[in-house]
This record gives sequence, C-alpha cells and structure tokens, in this order.
Amino acid sequence: MSNKLDLSIVIPVCDEGENVEELYDELHRVLSRLGKKYEIIFVDDGSIDDTFKKLQAIKDSTVKLMRFQRNYGKAAALSCGFRKSKGNIVITMDGDLQDDPKEIPRFLEKLEEYDVVSGWKSKRQDPVSKTIPSKFFNALTRFITGVKIHDFNCGFKGYRNYVVKNIKLYGEFHRYIPALAHWKGYTVGEIEVEHHPRVHGVSKYGVERLFKGFLDLITVTFLNIYKKRPLHIFGGIGFLLIFSAIVISLHQVSLWIKGIRIGDRPLLMLSILLMVIGVQFISIGLIGELITNSRNNDDYIIKYDSYELENDR
Ligand code: UDP
Ligand code: MG
Repeated sequence: MSNKLDLSIVIPVCDEGENVEELYDELHRVLSRLGKKYEIIFVDDGSIDDTFKKLQAIKDSTVKLMRFQRNYGKAAALSCGFRKSKGNIVITMDGDLQDDPKEIPRFLEKLEEYDVVSGWKSKRQDPVSKTIPSKFFNALTRFITGVKIHDFNCGFKGYRNYVVKNIKLYGEFHRYIPALAHWKGYTVGEIEVEHHPRVHGVSKYGVERLFKGFLDLITVTFLNIYKKRPLHIFGGIGFLLIFSAIVISLHQVSLWIKGIRIGDRPLLMLSILLMVIGVQFISIGLIGELITNSRNNDDYIIKYDSYELENDR
C-alpha cells in the first residue's frame, strides 16, 4: 500500500495553548525547506485551555486537527495520529517546545537505515526528580526488553509508516513502541536530540509515572511472550504446584502406612491446597487458550508478497 505523502508529524497536545503557535511556526520553517510533501497532525487530547482554538486558527492546509472528547492519554492520542497518518515516514514529537523541529532532517537521514529511530535526550532539561528515576527505568527496560536504546520515554521518534500501522497502543504503552517494534522484527536505531526546558505550561506526569511504567513493562513483556500460548505460563505454574502436592501427599501416605496419624497435619492441608490451586492455574491457562483461539490470530507481518505485486501491475 503506498502512502500519499512523504512525511507526517504527529503531535499529541494536552493544555499546550501557550506553545502550539510557536511550535507550528518552527515546524513550518523547517518542513517547508525539506522539499517534501508533508502533513502536521495535532491530536488535542481533551485540553481544557485554548489549545484547540489556537490550532484551529492556523490557516494552513498541511495542518490536520483531531480533538478528543476528553483526555484519553498520550498513547491514545499517538494511536489516533498513527491511524490517520499518510506519510511514508511518521515522526512523533511533544507539543511543549521541549523537542526541537530542527532535528527532523536527522531523523529522516537515520530512517533510511532503520525502521524505527528513537530520540535520546542526552542532555535532558528536566528536574532531577525526573532524570534520576528515569535512568533506572531505562536501564531496567533495556534489560527486560533487550532493546539497547537509552531513552524509552522520549516523545521524539521516527518510524516508517508500516511500523505504526502494525502496532497496537493502549494504556501508557507509547513508551514501549521501540520494544513492540523490535519484537515484531523491525530494526530500531537511536539519535541524540537536543532538549529544551519547558517554558510554558506544566508537565502532565509526576513520579507515579514510573510505577505505572513499571507495571506496563510487565504487561508488554508478558503479552509479548505468552499472548499466543497462555497455557505455557499458567499450565506450567499449575503443574509445578500439583507436582509439589503429589510429593507432599506421598510423604503423608508413607507416614500413614507406618501407622502414624496424618489427619490433623498441616502438610496434608498444604498438599490439598496446592492441588486445588494447581488445577485452577491450569484451568485459567485453558481459558486463556480459548480466548486467544477465538480471536483472529493472523498477527504476522508480511515483508514481501508476490500476490500484491501482481495485483498492483
Ligand atoms: N500529553 C497528552 N496527553 C496527556 C499527557 C500529555 O497529549 O494525557 C502531551 C503533552 O501535551 C505533551 C506531550 O504529551 O505534548 C508530553 O507531555 P509532557 O511534556 O507533560 O511530558 P514530560 O515532558 O514531562 O515527560
Ligand atoms: Mg515535556
């Protein structure tokens, strides 16, 4: 499927009324020099200030505007922008002037080599309450996902269009797009980007982001490994519990044969408990298999298809 434009810039905005006009001016300056066909997609994620009014006042047909009924979060806003995007390359950036549009040509250059290019705010202009926890978070995410980039949280990223069309986002999963892409077999690169302090407006995230981010990290990793085979994890745990129950009960039986009373022993209770929980785990795994099987399972990605080529001719 061919896209109509060269480049889509996707910008989620929530209460960025003091930033959007200047951001548009800077973007226009950079993009108009590239000699490419582009669009700038602003997704207003339920702003309660004048963000939408300011965006609507921009008279430029390259600017596309979406507005959510309420605040759904950055991942939803990005997902909406991805779905609409018509450019062969899609670049996402924050709408608070912390990301500098002049980096866009460098993203385009790197995207000739990679499917996904993540920005790295190597000199991050944010308070230490953000930068230090973020270092831990990134190290942990690198370790768990196996994606060797420095800055998962950077909003400035570039993609070839087919990547964004093949990725499902919800919750706060936007941080893990490089990992999701990597697991789907796409190549992920990185460039250092300049980062400015936030001058107008306030950050929408606090420290609770790290906690939520950690839970999301468990979810994405779990889904990646076991989505297609839930019985392997639940069944595995279930069989382990049942095995322990059997070992304990055999021990109890041997005592009983020797004539020792076992009816009031805690170990007997434990083995019964382990057996019941084990059966429950296996049942959960089987229900998981039923759910996965009842869905459309074709989530492989085709890189080359001679049928499509024939149809295009
Ligand atoms: N944002 C959004 N919806 C939200 C929270 C944030 O669209 O629920 C946008 C926000 O307007 C900004 C970008 O996401 O354009 C990054 O947010 P912020 O600057 O608050 O994050 P930080 O830079 O502090 O990590
Ligand atoms: Mg910011």
